[in-house]
Amino acid sequence: MSSDPRISLIKGDGIGVDVSEAAIVVAKAACAKCNCDFAIQTINAGAEYYRATGQDIEPDGEEKAGEAQAIFLGAIGLPSVRYPDGTEISPHLRLRDRYGLYAGVRPVKAYPNAPQRLADPRAAGIDMVILRESTEGLFYSAAVHDRSDVVPDTSVIDKMLVTRDISEKLHRFAFRLAQKRKSRGKAGRLTCVDKANVFKSMAFFRKIFDETAADFPDVPTSYNYVDAMALDLVRQPWAFDVMVMENIFGDILSDLAGGLVGGMGMAACAEIGDTIGLFQPAHGSAPDIMGQDKANPLAAILSASLMLDYLADTCDLPAFADAAGLIDTAVEAGFADNALRPMEFGGDMGTKAVTSEVLSRVW
Ligand code: ATP
Ligand code: MG
Repeated sequence: MSSDPRISLIKGDGIGVDVSEAAIVVAKAACAKCNCDFAIQTINAGAEYYRATGQDIEPDGEEKAGEAQAIFLGAIGLPSVRYPDGTEISPHLRLRDRYGLYAGVRPVKAYPNAPQRLADPRAAGIDMVILRESTEGLFYSAAVHDRSDVVPDTSVIDKMLVTRDISEKLHRFAFRLAQKRKSRGKAGRLTCVDKANVFKSMAFFRKIFDETAADFPDVPTSYNYVDAMALDLVRQPWAFDVMVMENIFGDILSDLAGGLVGGMGMAACAEIGDTIGLFQPAHGSAPDIMGQDKANPLAAILSASLMLDYLADTCDLPAFADAAGLIDTAVEAGFADNALRPMEFGGDMGTKAVTSEVLSRVW
């Protein structure tokens, strides 16, 4: 058993605690069903931990987190607990930097009987992934705090950084993801989203996309400018499969895409680096509903499925991919049978009831 992969579990704050516990229970059950298992090391971190100890993560927690194959995070932060500079508690952002988690993965899928913003019946076929570069792009400016281009009260410049190294890794990841989806009966197409007609950095991003494409002749590709992509995501989201883009474009479009289907409680998320992946629901700690058994745990449960799939690839243990598939099928079928009715969507099922329903279908 000692050769089982290990995960670092950071439950965090608010509903993060409940939904991460739900996700782990479901993941463990799916693994048991597929004759595989993972070990868990829990790491204390977050706003509550900071309130109690004055530290946002336990001693050596950042380093310890990285000793596992994957990190699973509930949600971190509470509006009432802040660093002395007034910002919210966010040790997880340091994990992203420290482990170079460059590929942000945001699946967007329409489930039967879940809220649907578009009336067109084809919207039931929305099943796509937004891949967002997460360590550079325009957000790089926020990271480096470069003040050299600031004339107080007169002008401010933020810079967009696109590097060959990160872009190559991101695009390779995107092409492999498209291939994998193809092998699972999905479209397996890849769209490069940029603004290559205006920005030099974006032209470079597209150039590296083209170079990478030469190694993946089996993957059909297209380009879309980010403004046209926003239009298309509303007009015909079912026409897209995998989309790869710069950091801030992905920040904006993944919220838009998420808004087309479900709500915060359905948005799974992965952040992948060279040596480790971090998996978490895209939502926050939702202090307004914490402790009331109202949170929808499905975003966390679907994030756990992404984690198992990742372990399958990186540890070369195909049983984990089967376990991930069990979870995805359970959620899909649960909605199709109208047996999953989260309160978030006006239904009658709280965190525990949704979790039990998924569990009963995994077994
Ligand atoms: P963060 O800054 O960490 O992203 P936030 O301020 O954007 O946090 P969230 O914690 O994501 O806020 O919550 C936004 C809204 O969505 C809240 O009203 C919250 O109750 C709701 N919400 C978030 N997650 C869930 C969930 N899993 N189930 C039901 N409702 C949720
Ligand atoms: Mg938010």
